[in-house]
Amino acid sequence: MNHKQALKHNIFSVISQSAEELQLDCYAIGGFVRDYLLERSNAKDIDIVAVGSGIDLAQQVSKNLPNQPKVQIFKTYGTAMLRYDDIEIEFVGARKESYNEDSRNPIVENGNLEDDQNRRDFTINALALSLNSSNFGELLDPFNGLEDLDNGVIRTPLDPDITYSDDPLRMMRAIRFATQLNFKIEDNSLKAITANKDRIKIISKERIVTELHKIIESDQPSIGFKLLEKTGLLDYILPELIALKGIDEIEGQRHKDNFYHTLEVVDNIAKTTDNLWLRWAALLHDIGKAPTKKFHKKIGWTFHAHEFVGSKMVYKLFKRLKMPLNDKMKFVQKMVLMSSRPIVLATEVTDSAVRRLVFDAGDHVDDLMILCEADITTKNPKKFKKYHNNFKLVREKIVEVEERDRIRNFQPPVTGEEIMKTFNLQPSKEIGIIKEAIKEAILEGEIPNEHDAAFELMLKKGKALGLTIDD
Ligand code: ATP
Repeated sequence: MNHKQALKHNIFSVISQSAEELQLDCYAIGGFVRDYLLERSNAKDIDIVAVGSGIDLAQQVSKNLPNQPKVQIFKTYGTAMLRYDDIEIEFVGARKESYNEDSRNPIVENGNLEDDQNRRDFTINALALSLNSSNFGELLDPFNGLEDLDNGVIRTPLDPDITYSDDPLRMMRAIRFATQLNFKIEDNSLKAITANKDRIKIISKERIVTELHKIIESDQPSIGFKLLEKTGLLDYILPELIALKGIDEIEGQRHKDNFYHTLEVVDNIAKTTDNLWLRWAALLHDIGKAPTKKFHKKIGWTFHAHEFVGSKMVYKLFKRLKMPLNDKMKFVQKMVLMSSRPIVLATEVTDSAVRRLVFDAGDHVDDLMILCEADITTKNPKKFKKYHNNFKLVREKIVEVEERDRIRNFQPPVTGEEIMKTFNLQPSKEIGIIKEAIKEAILEGEIPNEHDAAFELMLKKGKALGLTIDD
């Protein structure tokens, strides 16, 4: 079957013509071809392999394009990149690779198309489409990648043991592709990953995290986390999750397996949000349960203050994985810290508790509700319905209270300036006491969130503190 259809964008005819001018062969290869055959949209990244110099080809292509886009050259890698029509096109010369024990960076020699296909990580990523006029659009598939695509299988072109040991990042990539595409990793590969798991140590944290993000961003992230657990890689990457595994039983009392519960929560949240950091929060929301787990004769299993402990662990985990310690990390911490708040509320929805929730969660209150709803994993249909109904009530109450009291981005209705002016005060602790009393009265519903009512309370509190009014 010919696949000219995949190559109908005019960039391919320009590449083809440029290669002919340089008298070399070239092919589209890798993710672009795979995703075209899977009917997945991914026409923004195209990899071209040239049997000859990839850099020369990129320069010739640029010359032949109307706007002559800038060619970015990466000399050390022998690659070049240009952008055209929103597409990023990467050119590389066909190569043979060999590896040293302590590095994932190969020793490179020039090679032909077959050598280049041999160095690819998976059969489904080694598929190439010819851009040469003699067989334009022909699929070159030496490892039956098409069959693996049809059967949903991740397989390495060469011996998996060598493939994963050479470049251990491929272990993460295998699991990431299995998750994104809902494919199976074939048995020998899975065994080889398990056998080579400690080689993950030579991979930079940043690269591991890039793959983790892609797993978390998939439709069903649990596929990836189960594979990471099964192969032993998770022990190296996120031991905090491994610590949640297992069910203990004392005197007939059992707690749930918090690892599998967490995976269900992550799958649930993936159905309602694409927000990567909210998904991370779902993944980490229970990590404080391992260090806080205790058994009490009277009450059974407890995880006292696990939300607080968990939110502290988030910082350490981000730091260890070299993830940025920025607002995103703070957001994840906040979600973990607050992850039980709406649950407590759902048993009795009072106005003041809702106001406090909105005050503490601020603009993230909707995200927090999404997390709590995803946290409902009970298999009892009655309870499932009841919990969801309770959260529906909480959501309704949030809207109602917010319309009336505007707590979300709370601004004190009486400012510190006004307090100082009224009582002729210099900055002092009394101002803080009065402001806190006003805030508390609003959250408790004792006064409305309005200036005049707050001003009146300020006068009363000031008097109680022995302050006098400056006329
Ligand atoms: P995605 O765009 O979803 O990440 P992709 O397959 O295009 O998928 P890239 O990282 O852009 O991923 O890699 C392009 C191609 O380069 C791959 O399809 C594969 O053929 C090859 N490749 C990438 N990384 C490796 C690796 N570590 N080992 C061997 N081949 C690799």
